[in-house]
Amino acid sequence: MKIEKIEVLRTSLRYKKNAFYRPTENGVIVKIHTSDGITGVGEVSPIPSYSGETQEGVSAMIEKYLAPGLIGLDPLNLEKIIGQMDRLAYYNFSAKTAIDAALHDIAGKYCRLPVCTLLGGRVSEQIPVLYIIFPYFGAGRQRGDEIGPDSPEINAAQASEAVEKYGIRHIKLKWWNYEKNRAFELERVKSVRKAVGDEVSLWVDINGGLTPTLAIQAARELEEYHVDFMEQPTPRWDFNGLELVTKSVGKRIGIIADDCIFSLGEALEVVRRQAADGLNVKPVKMGGLYRSRQMVAIADAANLPCLVGRGHESSVGTLPGIHLSASSRTMKLPGELSHHLLLEDDLTVEPVHVKDGCIRVPEEPGLGFRLDEEKVKEAVKRARKTP
Ligand SMILES: [Mg+2]
Repeated sequence: MKIEKIEVLRTSLRYKKNAFYRPTENGVIVKIHTSDGITGVGEVSPIPSYSGETQEGVSAMIEKYLAPGLIGLDPLNLEKIIGQMDRLAYYNFSAKTAIDAALHDIAGKYCRLPVCTLLGGRVSEQIPVLYIIFPYFGAGRQRGDEIGPDSPEINAAQASEAVEKYGIRHIKLKWWNYEKNRAFELERVKSVRKAVGDEVSLWVDINGGLTPTLAIQAARELEEYHVDFMEQPTPRWDFNGLELVTKSVGKRIGIIADDCIFSLGEALEVVRRQAADGLNVKPVKMGGLYRSRQMVAIADAANLPCLVGRGHESSVGTLPGIHLSASSRTMKLPGELSHHLLLEDDLTVEPVHVKDGCIRVPEEPGLGFRLDEEKVKEAVKRARKTP
């Protein structure tokens, strides 16, 4: 079997009304066609502020630089293809993630097995969802309003809705600016805790916004609200700071390393320093499932629990992480798999469903979805109109 053609489609997906701080999500769908007639599909929604990649950049990178170097290769030879992509382009993890997902989809369809089986085997039937509440979620706002944190009352209502509608048991609140508005951020946590009760696990994600001193102070203050984990308290480049925070807060709160790991070497650095209590494994940071599985092995060797993370994709881009989580015993933490719930548009016939706080792991071959070609056409048409 050979890779015959790689198709790249730019999509625009609408958010539900006031669900997010922007009205649409601009992503890329990659279709890899093979000589055996099998087509694999991957999706990515690059986040410029996170990975430095854009929809335009990802589509150009795949079309002009990666795809020409992959035509004619055996799509089942992942080790060779990953090596080839790394030779063709440094970084560009989002672009590589979409290709890696499509290749795993092909391998699963070829073997008539779900991707989780190919990744090692299914050890979970259901993945518990860690539901994210953004500071600038947009509820009650109109397009064009200034971006800023929603009120504690709105956050509490969002948390209650997630619990009632989807049975969510794990909630992660993203902080806006603790340094400038400490009381307000703590109030947001307090109101969410009050709304959901003590049975729901609460996390706070800082996305690298604090100095070690402030992070240690925040950890102390969060104790009152029984927050289980604080994610990436210090900037992504500050390994010393992360290590200091983790060692200083002790068992008060668990520290998760996320934004600081975009390579296996960085995962190893966190482990070597004992700078975190758990790792957020995002295919979109590692360049796909292949390398994510290797990162899970590093976590495994260090006896560190993991969670799977993802970007802003629809169900298509959510599924690789579901298979990764389902096939890893080290994925002991709930998966960051809620973003597609905010989108009005999805690209699958049957979008990924959250029930009783969990996502069912598909049993169908490949990634386990059917692309809704009509919806894809509409999303592509919308993207052409988007300036
Ligand atoms: Mg994070």
